Amino acid sequence: MKVNLSRLNKKIYIDLKTVGVQAQCLGFRAYLVGGVVRDLLLNKTSSDWDIVVEGCAIKLAKTLANKNNSRLTVYEQFGTATLEFVNGIVMDFSTARSEHYPQPGSLPIVKSGLLENDLFRRDFTINALAVALNPQTWGRLQDFYGGYDDLKNRKIRVLHKQSFVDDPTRILRAARFAARFGFKVETKTLRLLKAAIIGQAPMTVKAPRYYAEFRKLFFEKNPGVCLRQLANWQGLGFIAPDFQPDWKSLARIAKGVLRLRKDPFFFAKDWSGVYFLAFWAQLDGQRIKQCAKTFHFTRLEILRLSGMVEIPRICNQLIIPRMSPSAVYEVLDPVDLEIIYFIRLTTSVSMIARRIDQFLKKSRLVDLQITGKDLKGLGFKPGRELGAVLHVVLLNKIDGKVETHQDEMVLAKSLHFLSVG
Ligand code: ATP
Repeated sequence: MKVNLSRLNKKIYIDLKTVGVQAQCLGFRAYLVGGVVRDLLLNKTSSDWDIVVEGCAIKLAKTLANKNNSRLTVYEQFGTATLEFVNGIVMDFSTARSEHYPQPGSLPIVKSGLLENDLFRRDFTINALAVALNPQTWGRLQDFYGGYDDLKNRKIRVLHKQSFVDDPTRILRAARFAARFGFKVETKTLRLLKAAIIGQAPMTVKAPRYYAEFRKLFFEKNPGVCLRQLANWQGLGFIAPDFQPDWKSLARIAKGVLRLRKDPFFFAKDWSGVYFLAFWAQLDGQRIKQCAKTFHFTRLEILRLSGMVEIPRICNQLIIPRMSPSAVYEVLDPVDLEIIYFIRLTTSVSMIARRIDQFLKKSRLVDLQITGKDLKGLGFKPGRELGAVLHVVLLNKIDGKVETHQDEMVLAKSLHFLSVG
Protein backbone atom coordinates (compact mmCIF):
# COMPACT_ATOMS: atom_id res chain seq x y z
CA MET A 1 0.00 0.00 0.00
CA LYS A 2 1.13 3.56 -0.76
CA VAL A 3 0.82 6.35 1.77
CA ASN A 4 -0.02 9.70 0.28
CA LEU A 5 2.86 11.85 1.53
CA SER A 6 1.93 14.75 -0.71
CA ARG A 7 -0.72 15.84 1.77
CA LEU A 8 2.10 16.76 4.15
CA ASN A 9 3.20 20.31 4.58
CA LYS A 10 5.34 21.23 1.54
CA LYS A 11 8.50 21.92 3.58
CA ILE A 12 8.39 18.49 5.20
CA TYR A 13 7.57 16.80 1.91
CA ILE A 14 10.66 18.31 0.28
CA ASP A 15 12.89 17.42 3.24
CA LEU A 16 11.67 13.81 3.23
CA LYS A 17 12.35 13.57 -0.51
CA THR A 18 15.87 14.88 0.10
CA VAL A 19 16.42 12.29 2.85
CA GLY A 20 15.27 9.48 0.54
CA VAL A 21 17.44 10.59 -2.39
CA GLN A 22 20.52 10.96 -0.17
CA ALA A 23 19.95 7.56 1.45
CA GLN A 24 19.77 6.04 -2.02
CA CYS A 25 23.07 7.71 -3.03
CA LEU A 26 24.78 6.20 0.02
CA GLY A 27 23.32 2.75 -0.61
CA PHE A 28 21.08 2.97 2.50
CA ARG A 29 17.34 2.68 2.97
CA ALA A 30 15.50 5.37 4.93
CA TYR A 31 12.03 5.17 6.48
CA LEU A 32 9.69 7.47 8.31
CA VAL A 33 8.60 5.53 11.41
CA GLY A 34 6.54 5.39 14.57
CA GLY A 35 3.88 7.74 15.86
CA VAL A 36 4.16 10.05 12.89
CA VAL A 37 3.07 7.28 10.48
CA ARG A 38 0.19 6.35 12.77
CA ASP A 39 -0.91 10.00 12.87
CA LEU A 40 -0.51 10.35 9.12
CA LEU A 41 -2.82 7.38 8.53
CA LEU A 42 -5.30 8.78 11.06
CA ASN A 43 -5.23 12.14 9.26
CA LYS A 44 -3.83 13.83 12.33
CA THR A 45 -0.97 16.27 12.47
CA SER A 46 2.32 15.32 14.04
CA SER A 47 5.52 17.17 14.76
CA ASP A 48 7.97 14.36 15.56
CA TRP A 49 9.82 13.30 12.44
CA ASP A 50 11.59 10.03 13.19
CA ILE A 51 13.72 8.44 10.49
CA VAL A 52 15.11 4.92 10.73
CA VAL A 53 17.99 4.00 8.46
CA GLU A 54 19.06 0.60 7.22
CA GLY A 55 22.70 1.58 6.94
CA CYS A 56 24.31 4.26 9.09
CA ALA A 57 22.02 7.00 10.44
CA ILE A 58 24.88 9.24 11.51
CA LYS A 59 26.56 9.07 8.11
CA LEU A 60 23.29 9.93 6.36
CA ALA A 61 22.57 12.83 8.72
CA LYS A 62 26.15 14.16 8.37
CA THR A 63 25.97 14.04 4.56
CA LEU A 64 22.63 15.83 4.57
CA ALA A 65 23.97 18.45 6.97
CA ASN A 66 26.99 19.13 4.74
CA LYS A 67 24.98 19.35 1.56
CA ASN A 68 22.08 21.40 2.92
CA ASN A 69 23.82 23.52 5.48
CA SER A 70 21.53 22.23 8.21
CA ARG A 71 22.30 22.07 11.91
CA LEU A 72 23.47 18.67 13.11
CA THR A 73 23.74 17.14 16.58
CA VAL A 74 25.27 13.69 16.78
CA TYR A 75 24.83 11.26 19.69
CA GLU A 76 27.63 8.79 18.87
CA GLN A 77 26.96 6.52 21.87
CA PHE A 78 23.35 5.94 20.73
CA GLY A 79 24.04 5.89 16.98
CA THR A 80 21.52 8.71 16.49
CA ALA A 81 21.55 12.25 15.15
CA THR A 82 19.20 15.21 15.05
CA LEU A 83 19.11 17.43 12.01
CA GLU A 84 17.53 20.85 11.84
CA PHE A 85 16.93 21.76 8.20
CA VAL A 86 17.31 25.39 7.14
CA ASN A 87 13.51 25.62 6.88
CA GLY A 88 13.23 24.80 10.60
CA ILE A 89 12.04 21.17 10.31
CA VAL A 90 13.74 18.90 12.85
CA MET A 91 14.27 15.19 12.16
CA ASP A 92 15.68 12.45 14.37
CA PHE A 93 17.77 9.80 12.66
CA SER A 94 18.56 6.39 14.11
CA THR A 95 20.10 3.26 12.70
CA ALA A 96 17.69 0.31 12.49
CA ARG A 97 18.41 -1.93 15.46
CA SER A 98 17.28 -4.96 17.31
CA GLU A 99 17.27 -5.15 21.06
CA HIS A 100 16.93 -7.45 24.01
CA TYR A 101 16.18 -6.86 27.66
CA PRO A 102 18.77 -8.49 29.94
CA GLN A 103 16.32 -8.17 32.85
CA PRO A 104 12.66 -7.17 32.99
CA GLY A 105 12.26 -3.40 33.37
CA SER A 106 15.91 -2.66 32.60
CA LEU A 107 17.14 -0.60 29.67
CA PRO A 108 17.56 -2.74 26.55
CA ILE A 109 20.82 -3.79 24.89
CA VAL A 110 20.71 -2.83 21.21
CA LYS A 111 22.58 -3.81 18.07
CA SER A 112 22.11 -2.73 14.47
CA GLY A 113 19.61 -4.66 12.39
CA LEU A 114 16.92 -4.40 9.76
CA LEU A 115 13.80 -2.26 9.75
CA GLU A 116 11.77 -5.33 10.63
CA ASN A 117 13.82 -5.81 13.83
CA ASP A 118 13.58 -2.15 14.64
CA LEU A 119 9.81 -2.19 14.37
CA PHE A 120 9.58 -5.35 16.46
CA ARG A 121 11.00 -3.54 19.50
CA ARG A 122 8.16 -0.99 19.42
CA ASP A 123 5.36 -0.82 21.96
CA PHE A 124 2.23 -1.45 19.85
CA THR A 125 1.50 -2.52 16.29
CA ILE A 126 -0.04 0.89 15.54
CA ASN A 127 3.33 2.45 16.38
CA ALA A 128 5.29 -0.15 14.42
CA LEU A 129 4.52 1.16 10.95
CA ALA A 130 6.99 2.76 8.55
CA VAL A 131 6.93 4.53 5.20
CA ALA A 132 9.76 4.05 2.70
CA LEU A 133 11.51 7.23 1.55
CA ASN A 134 13.97 6.00 -1.11
CA PRO A 135 12.91 7.13 -4.62
CA GLN A 136 12.06 3.66 -5.98
CA THR A 137 9.89 2.71 -3.01
CA TRP A 138 8.76 6.24 -2.04
CA GLY A 139 5.56 6.20 0.04
CA ARG A 140 5.32 2.41 0.41
CA LEU A 141 3.84 1.37 3.77
CA GLN A 142 5.97 -1.15 5.68
CA ASP A 143 3.63 -3.12 7.88
CA PHE A 144 5.22 -6.29 9.29
CA TYR A 145 2.95 -6.74 12.29
CA GLY A 146 -0.58 -5.87 11.19
CA GLY A 147 -0.51 -2.29 12.47
CA TYR A 148 -2.61 -0.97 9.59
CA ASP A 149 -5.48 -3.39 10.31
CA ASP A 150 -5.26 -2.57 14.01
CA LEU A 151 -5.50 1.13 13.21
CA LYS A 152 -8.59 0.50 11.08
CA ASN A 153 -10.12 -1.71 13.78
CA ARG A 154 -9.13 0.77 16.51
CA LYS A 155 -7.11 -1.78 18.46
CA ILE A 156 -4.07 -1.48 20.68
CA ARG A 157 -2.00 -4.65 20.43
CA VAL A 158 1.49 -5.54 21.63
CA LEU A 159 3.94 -7.26 19.32
CA HIS A 160 4.86 -10.13 21.63
CA LYS A 161 3.95 -11.76 24.95
CA GLN A 162 6.85 -10.33 26.95
CA SER A 163 6.19 -6.74 25.95
CA PHE A 164 4.76 -5.38 29.23
CA VAL A 165 7.24 -7.36 31.31
CA ASP A 166 10.21 -6.12 29.26
CA ASP A 167 9.03 -2.56 29.54
CA PRO A 168 6.16 -1.90 31.97
CA THR A 169 6.01 1.78 31.00
CA ARG A 170 4.02 0.43 28.03
CA ILE A 171 1.10 -0.06 30.44
CA LEU A 172 0.96 3.71 30.80
CA ARG A 173 1.34 4.19 27.06
CA ALA A 174 -1.57 1.80 26.44
CA ALA A 175 -3.78 3.90 28.73
CA ARG A 176 -2.66 7.07 26.98
CA PHE A 177 -3.25 5.90 23.41
CA ALA A 178 -6.51 4.11 24.26
CA ALA A 179 -7.89 7.32 25.77
CA ARG A 180 -6.47 9.62 23.13
CA PHE A 181 -7.82 7.75 20.12
CA GLY A 182 -10.79 6.05 21.76
CA PHE A 183 -9.21 2.67 20.86
CA LYS A 184 -9.75 -0.65 22.66
CA VAL A 185 -6.91 -2.67 24.08
CA GLU A 186 -7.14 -5.98 22.19
CA THR A 187 -8.25 -8.94 24.36
CA LYS A 188 -4.95 -10.87 24.55
CA THR A 189 -2.98 -7.66 25.05
CA LEU A 190 -5.32 -6.69 27.87
CA ARG A 191 -4.78 -10.06 29.51
CA LEU A 192 -0.99 -9.60 29.29
CA LEU A 193 -1.27 -6.06 30.60
CA LYS A 194 -3.33 -7.09 33.62
CA ALA A 195 -1.01 -10.04 34.29
CA ALA A 196 1.95 -7.64 34.28
CA ILE A 197 0.18 -5.43 36.81
CA ILE A 198 -0.73 -8.38 39.05
CA GLY A 199 2.88 -9.56 38.77
CA GLN A 200 4.04 -6.11 39.96
CA ALA A 201 6.02 -5.55 36.74
CA PRO A 202 6.14 -1.75 37.18
CA MET A 203 8.23 -2.27 40.34
CA THR A 204 11.12 -3.44 38.13
CA VAL A 205 11.40 0.00 36.51
CA LYS A 206 13.31 2.80 38.21
CA ALA A 207 10.64 5.08 39.73
CA PRO A 208 11.70 8.31 37.93
CA ARG A 209 11.64 6.53 34.55
CA TYR A 210 8.17 5.15 35.27
CA TYR A 211 6.97 8.58 36.35
CA ALA A 212 8.45 10.20 33.23
CA GLU A 213 5.95 8.17 31.20
CA PHE A 214 3.14 8.81 33.72
CA ARG A 215 3.77 12.56 33.47
CA LYS A 216 2.83 12.41 29.77
CA LEU A 217 -0.75 11.59 30.80
CA PHE A 218 -1.15 15.14 32.06
CA PHE A 219 -0.32 16.45 28.57
CA GLU A 220 -3.23 14.61 26.99
CA LYS A 221 -6.45 16.43 26.12
CA ASN A 222 -8.35 14.44 28.69
CA PRO A 223 -6.00 13.09 31.34
CA GLY A 224 -8.91 12.06 33.57
CA VAL A 225 -9.91 9.36 31.05
CA CYS A 226 -6.33 7.98 30.88
CA LEU A 227 -6.06 7.94 34.67
CA ARG A 228 -9.40 6.24 35.06
CA GLN A 229 -8.44 3.62 32.52
CA LEU A 230 -5.26 2.98 34.46
CA ALA A 231 -7.15 2.79 37.74
CA ASN A 232 -9.62 0.29 36.24
CA TRP A 233 -6.65 -1.92 35.45
CA GLN A 234 -5.47 -1.48 39.08
CA GLY A 235 -2.41 0.28 37.67
CA LEU A 236 -2.60 3.57 39.53
CA GLY A 237 -1.27 2.04 42.75
CA PHE A 238 2.29 2.10 41.41
CA ILE A 239 2.14 5.87 41.51
CA ALA A 240 0.13 6.34 44.69
CA PRO A 241 -0.92 3.19 46.58
CA ASP A 242 -4.53 3.12 47.88
CA PHE A 243 -5.27 6.42 46.20
CA GLN A 244 -8.89 6.78 45.10
CA PRO A 245 -9.08 9.99 43.09
CA ASP A 246 -12.27 11.98 42.99
CA TRP A 247 -13.03 11.22 39.33
CA LYS A 248 -15.94 13.63 39.16
CA SER A 249 -13.76 16.52 40.18
CA LEU A 250 -10.99 15.51 37.73
CA ALA A 251 -13.54 15.25 34.92
CA ARG A 252 -14.98 18.65 35.84
CA ILE A 253 -11.52 20.21 35.74
CA ALA A 254 -10.70 18.53 32.40
CA LYS A 255 -13.94 19.87 30.93
CA GLY A 256 -13.21 23.31 32.37
CA VAL A 257 -9.72 23.35 30.87
CA LEU A 258 -11.11 22.45 27.44
CA ARG A 259 -13.54 25.36 27.78
CA LEU A 260 -10.84 27.82 28.86
CA ARG A 261 -8.49 26.70 26.09
CA LYS A 262 -11.00 27.80 23.50
CA ASP A 263 -11.17 31.31 24.95
CA PRO A 264 -8.32 33.48 23.59
CA PHE A 265 -8.12 35.41 26.88
CA PHE A 266 -7.18 32.32 28.83
CA PHE A 267 -3.64 31.68 27.83
CA ALA A 268 -1.36 29.17 29.55
CA LYS A 269 2.14 28.09 28.70
CA ASP A 270 1.37 24.68 30.03
CA TRP A 271 -2.18 23.44 30.55
CA SER A 272 -0.83 20.12 31.78
CA GLY A 273 0.16 22.03 34.93
CA VAL A 274 -3.52 22.47 35.82
CA TYR A 275 -4.19 18.72 35.58
CA PHE A 276 -1.01 18.02 37.48
CA LEU A 277 -2.31 20.18 40.32
CA ALA A 278 -5.80 18.69 40.09
CA PHE A 279 -4.36 15.19 40.53
CA TRP A 280 -1.79 15.81 43.23
CA ALA A 281 -3.96 18.26 45.18
CA GLN A 282 -6.08 15.27 46.16
CA LEU A 283 -3.26 13.74 48.19
CA ASP A 284 -2.03 14.98 51.54
CA GLY A 285 1.15 17.03 51.84
CA GLN A 286 3.23 14.27 53.41
CA ARG A 287 2.54 11.83 50.57
CA ILE A 288 3.14 14.48 47.94
CA LYS A 289 6.54 15.19 49.48
CA GLN A 290 7.41 11.52 49.42
CA CYS A 291 6.34 11.15 45.78
CA ALA A 292 8.25 14.28 44.76
CA LYS A 293 11.39 12.63 46.13
CA THR A 294 10.75 9.15 44.73
CA PHE A 295 9.75 10.30 41.26
CA HIS A 296 12.24 13.16 40.95
CA PHE A 297 9.66 15.87 40.34
CA THR A 298 11.04 18.73 38.27
CA ARG A 299 11.76 22.11 39.87
CA LEU A 300 8.72 23.54 38.17
CA GLU A 301 6.51 20.77 39.56
CA ILE A 302 7.84 21.32 43.06
CA LEU A 303 7.33 25.06 42.70
CA ARG A 304 3.75 24.51 41.58
CA LEU A 305 3.00 22.16 44.43
CA SER A 306 4.47 24.52 46.99
CA GLY A 307 2.40 27.31 45.45
CA MET A 308 -0.71 25.31 46.35
CA VAL A 309 -0.14 26.02 50.03
CA GLU A 310 -0.94 29.64 49.21
CA ILE A 311 -4.36 28.86 47.72
CA PRO A 312 -6.41 29.36 50.96
CA ARG A 313 -4.68 32.71 51.58
CA ILE A 314 -5.29 33.85 47.97
CA CYS A 315 -8.96 32.83 48.17
CA ASN A 316 -9.40 34.63 51.50
CA GLN A 317 -8.00 37.79 49.98
CA LEU A 318 -10.24 37.52 46.95
CA ILE A 319 -13.42 37.57 49.04
CA ILE A 320 -12.69 40.90 50.72
CA PRO A 321 -15.63 43.16 49.86
CA ARG A 322 -15.26 46.17 47.56
CA MET A 323 -11.83 45.33 46.14
CA SER A 324 -10.66 47.58 43.33
CA PRO A 325 -9.40 45.88 40.15
CA SER A 326 -5.86 46.97 41.09
CA ALA A 327 -6.17 45.35 44.52
CA VAL A 328 -7.17 42.08 42.82
CA TYR A 329 -4.22 42.55 40.45
CA GLU A 330 -1.84 42.90 43.39
CA VAL A 331 -3.09 39.59 44.84
CA LEU A 332 -2.98 37.60 41.60
CA ASP A 333 -0.07 39.05 39.66
CA PRO A 334 2.63 37.15 41.60
CA VAL A 335 0.75 33.84 41.38
CA ASP A 336 1.63 31.11 38.85
CA LEU A 337 -0.98 31.15 36.03
CA GLU A 338 -1.68 27.43 36.31
CA ILE A 339 -2.52 27.90 40.00
CA ILE A 340 -4.89 30.74 39.09
CA TYR A 341 -6.65 28.47 36.56
CA PHE A 342 -6.81 25.71 39.13
CA ILE A 343 -8.54 28.05 41.61
CA ARG A 344 -10.82 29.33 38.86
CA LEU A 345 -11.93 25.81 37.99
CA THR A 346 -12.38 24.55 41.52
CA THR A 347 -13.88 27.49 43.39
CA SER A 348 -17.57 27.50 44.17
CA VAL A 349 -17.45 31.18 45.17
CA SER A 350 -18.73 33.27 42.28
CA MET A 351 -16.97 36.42 43.53
CA ILE A 352 -13.59 34.67 43.29
CA ALA A 353 -14.36 33.40 39.78
CA ARG A 354 -15.50 36.88 38.69
CA ARG A 355 -12.41 38.55 40.07
CA ILE A 356 -10.09 36.04 38.47
CA ASP A 357 -11.82 36.58 35.12
CA GLN A 358 -11.46 40.32 35.48
CA PHE A 359 -7.75 39.90 36.23
CA LEU A 360 -7.15 37.52 33.32
CA LYS A 361 -9.27 39.26 30.74
CA LYS A 362 -8.61 42.89 31.63
CA SER A 363 -6.12 43.93 34.31
CA ARG A 364 -3.35 41.59 33.22
CA LEU A 365 -3.48 43.04 29.71
CA VAL A 366 -3.18 46.69 30.71
CA ASP A 367 -0.01 48.28 29.38
CA LEU A 368 1.56 51.62 30.18
CA GLN A 369 2.34 54.06 27.42
CA ILE A 370 5.07 55.81 29.36
CA THR A 371 8.44 54.15 29.74
CA GLY A 372 11.41 54.38 32.05
CA LYS A 373 12.95 56.75 29.53
CA ASP A 374 10.05 59.20 29.96
CA LEU A 375 10.54 59.11 33.71
CA LYS A 376 14.26 59.73 33.43
CA GLY A 377 13.32 62.80 31.37
CA LEU A 378 11.24 63.94 34.36
CA GLY A 379 14.28 63.69 36.60
CA PHE A 380 13.78 60.24 38.14
CA LYS A 381 16.94 58.34 38.88
CA PRO A 382 17.09 54.83 37.47
CA GLY A 383 16.51 52.17 40.11
CA ARG A 384 13.90 51.08 42.57
CA GLU A 385 12.03 54.40 42.77
CA LEU A 386 11.51 54.48 39.02
CA GLY A 387 10.09 50.94 39.04
CA ALA A 388 7.82 51.80 41.97
CA VAL A 389 6.43 54.87 40.19
CA LEU A 390 5.71 52.88 37.03
CA HIS A 391 3.91 50.33 39.18
CA VAL A 392 1.73 52.96 40.87
CA VAL A 393 0.83 54.46 37.48
CA LEU A 394 -0.06 50.97 36.23
CA LEU A 395 -2.34 50.32 39.23
CA ASN A 396 -4.11 53.63 38.55
CA LYS A 397 -4.51 52.71 34.91
CA ILE A 398 -6.00 49.33 35.87
CA ASP A 399 -8.54 51.21 37.99
CA GLY A 400 -9.34 53.50 35.06
CA LYS A 401 -8.00 56.60 36.80
CA VAL A 402 -5.54 57.38 34.03
CA GLU A 403 -5.98 56.68 30.36
CA THR A 404 -3.75 58.59 27.97
CA HIS A 405 0.01 59.04 27.75
CA GLN A 406 -0.46 62.55 29.09
CA ASP A 407 -2.50 61.32 32.10
CA GLU A 408 0.28 58.89 32.89
CA MET A 409 2.93 61.62 32.67
CA VAL A 410 0.95 63.96 34.94
CA LEU A 411 0.52 61.26 37.55
CA ALA A 412 4.19 60.26 37.38
CA LYS A 413 5.20 63.92 37.76
CA SER A 414 3.03 64.32 40.85
CA LEU A 415 4.58 61.20 42.36
CA HIS A 416 8.02 62.67 41.71
CA PHE A 417 6.92 65.85 43.37
CA LEU A 418 5.77 63.87 46.42
CA SER A 419 9.00 61.89 46.64
CA VAL A 420 11.27 64.95 46.48
CA GLY A 421 8.94 67.21 48.38
P1 ATP B 1 3.07 10.95 20.91
O1 ATP B 1 2.10 11.28 19.83
O2 ATP B 1 2.50 10.95 22.28
O3 ATP B 1 4.40 11.67 20.82
P2 ATP B 1 4.51 8.70 19.88
O4 ATP B 1 3.98 7.38 19.44
O5 ATP B 1 5.12 9.59 18.84
O6 ATP B 1 3.35 9.42 20.65
P3 ATP B 1 6.94 8.80 21.41
O7 ATP B 1 7.03 8.64 22.89
O8 ATP B 1 7.33 10.10 20.79
O9 ATP B 1 5.47 8.38 21.05
O10 ATP B 1 7.79 7.64 20.75
C1 ATP B 1 8.02 7.54 19.36
C2 ATP B 1 7.96 6.09 18.93
O11 ATP B 1 8.94 5.33 19.66
C3 ATP B 1 6.63 5.40 19.23
O12 ATP B 1 5.70 5.59 18.21
C4 ATP B 1 7.04 3.97 19.38
O13 ATP B 1 7.19 3.36 18.12
C5 ATP B 1 8.42 4.06 20.00
N1 ATP B 1 8.38 3.96 21.48
C6 ATP B 1 8.31 4.96 22.39
N2 ATP B 1 8.29 4.49 23.63
C7 ATP B 1 8.37 3.14 23.53
C8 ATP B 1 8.42 2.08 24.47
N3 ATP B 1 8.37 2.29 25.79
N4 ATP B 1 8.51 0.83 23.99
C9 ATP B 1 8.60 0.60 22.66
N5 ATP B 1 8.54 1.53 21.75
C10 ATP B 1 8.44 2.80 22.15
